[in-house]
Amino acid sequence: IHTSCDSVPEGARPIQIVITNEDDHKFELDAAALEKILMQEHVKDLSVVVVSVAGAFRKGKSFLLDFMLRYMHNQSSESWMGGDDEPLTGFSWRGGCERETTGIQAWSEVFVVEKEDGTKVAVLLVDTQGAFDSQSTIKDCATVFALSTMTSSVQCVWDKYGRLAMEEIYEKPFQKLLFLIRDWCYPYEHGYGLKGGNCFLDRRLQVKQNQHEELQNVRKHIHNCFSSIGCFLLPHPGLKVATNPHFDGRLRDIDDEFKKELQNLVPLLLAPENLVEKEIGGAKVTCRDLLEYFKAYIQIYQGEELPHPKSMLQATAEANNLTAVAGAKYTYNRTMEQVCGGDKPYIAPVDLQRYHEEFKKTSVQQFSAVKKMGGVEFSQRYQQQLETELDEVYTNFVKHNESKNIFYAARTPATLFAIMFV
Ligand code: GDP
Ligand code: MG
Repeated sequence: IHTSCDSVPEGARPIQIVITNEDDHKFELDAAALEKILMQEHVKDLSVVVVSVAGAFRKGKSFLLDFMLRYMHNQSSESWMGGDDEPLTGFSWRGGCERETTGIQAWSEVFVVEKEDGTKVAVLLVDTQGAFDSQSTIKDCATVFALSTMTSSVQCVWDKYGRLAMEEIYEKPFQKLLFLIRDWCYPYEHGYGLKGGNCFLDRRLQVKQNQHEELQNVRKHIHNCFSSIGCFLLPHPGLKVATNPHFDGRLRDIDDEFKKELQNLVPLLLAPENLVEKEIGGAKVTCRDLLEYFKAYIQIYQGEELPHPKSMLQATAEANNLTAVAGAKYTYNRTMEQVCGGDKPYIAPVDLQRYHEEFKKTSVQQFSAVKKMGGVEFSQRYQQQLETELDEVYTNFVKHNESKNIFYAARTPATLFAIMFV
């Protein structure tokens, strides 16, 4: 593990947000840790871009993520890759083959990037690690993988050459999927980079008669699941990277050909014009929403069996409606605070009622305007819940307003006069 952190600000580090318990194979979300990351004041209400790198142990995910961090820290610079002798820092990576934890890690710093149209988005980098290699943990792996697919807007699957882990992918309407094939050694067949990769992928995705039916189905459906699928072929990084235990990530030790491709790959994922905002059911997701989705999704993975795609859809619809309710309630509260909050004077009950009716209407309209999954009937329940909650909040505002009335009365000259002459 590298401890010197020149490019990485102090305190910034990978945080384990989803943990797989090796004994009972249950998943746990560290909601508090995730909340700390996503609810930071400067990012919580920005649309989120979640770039996740997924794959088995020791594939080079951390290595790639560290370069992604370098890019994020030196956005505006042509030479974002850094100097020849700077060790890589960030998502710790190491030689050897010790066991590491399965699960999902997020980088504690959320990056704010201004897109070409001037809007600001929050970029979250995620490392997803599954034990793809062992039979007993296939469910763990599929789960971690599905979780990361559901919560990310761009997922890179990092794999050995020639193999594609598509079998593990769930059938869902996801966004961008990029297969990264490392150590590609047939550049004369398909050249390095995106063009060669896509060509290779097209070939691999062809459905052939002699394939197992399930594999055929995966191939047929994969295009329906992701709005964009690509493949990038990376050359071998050189023997120092692959085998030297003292290699610390410095550029000098990495093959030129690899660096050349890396120079293209990272901006392809992270340049402002290429950032893909996370969407669920056609609506952009903020950092605040993402937290709710994580909470909802983790629930459905608590059972013994792998969840059915239908229950994943159900959970998405629920989380989707709940975030719409939360957003609408927030608007109501904010507008009510403006007319009768703690620092506002007493107002006449009829006026308060009028404000309530007006703001409740706006709030419910806001809820209705959000694109939601699960159908009209399903979201009707949530609208009902919203309205009930707003009425409850209103009752509290009324009480609070009343208490101001007495206070107000006590301060009027007439009352003062009365008190003084009792
Ligand atoms: P992770 O477990 O997927 O995060 O893998 P690491 O990033 O920790 O890398 C594991 C090992 O693979 C390290 O020794 C890296 O130097 C090495 N490595 C990184 N990228 C590549 C690559 O593209 N090809 C090869 N052969 N090795 C790599
Ligand atoms: Mg790693």
